[in-house]
Amino acid sequence: MAIERTLSIIKPDAVAKNIIGKIYTRFEEAGLRIVAAKMLHLTREQAEGFYEVHRERPFFKDLVAYMTSGPVMVQVLEGEDAIARNREIMGATDPRQAAPGTIRADFAESIEENAVHGSDGPETAAREIAFFFKPEEICPRTR
Ligand code: UDP
Repeated sequence: MAIERTLSIIKPDAVAKNIIGKIYTRFEEAGLRIVAAKMLHLTREQAEGFYEVHRERPFFKDLVAYMTSGPVMVQVLEGEDAIARNREIMGATDPRQAAPGTIRADFAESIEENAVHGSDGPETAAREIAFFFKPEEICPRTR
């Protein structure tokens, strides 16, 4: 297994519920290290650009409204098999389908307001990390 990086977002519903720390604990207990982080209130342009692949989907407009409804916490997670590992601990998109003990099973409100985002593959991860972070904003562990 390779050391990978993935882009994670704690979405507005979870930030509003004041559970950033609880979700960070899930990452850390899964062996994922936070190597970059920032809080942002996304603009409509940023949310539309980030979810560009979903532009033609029926839920796109609502998704953009939700993602701009309050601040988000954006982070780069690093670790062995980080992309798949993060998807595993997030759980399925729809919290009703998410495995027990996953972040979405425990904290998501609905298929839309589902607490977290995580990149779904290596190309997406590279694009999404570059969308939010300059290379010098990423801080690999030195000890
Ligand atoms: N989404 C939604 N309705 C749907 C499917 C997705 O509102 O029927 C939202 C939801 O917030 C989801 C995001 O759009 O996390 C991106 O969808 P995707 O299928 O990429 O799911 P993910 O990779 O986030 O699990």
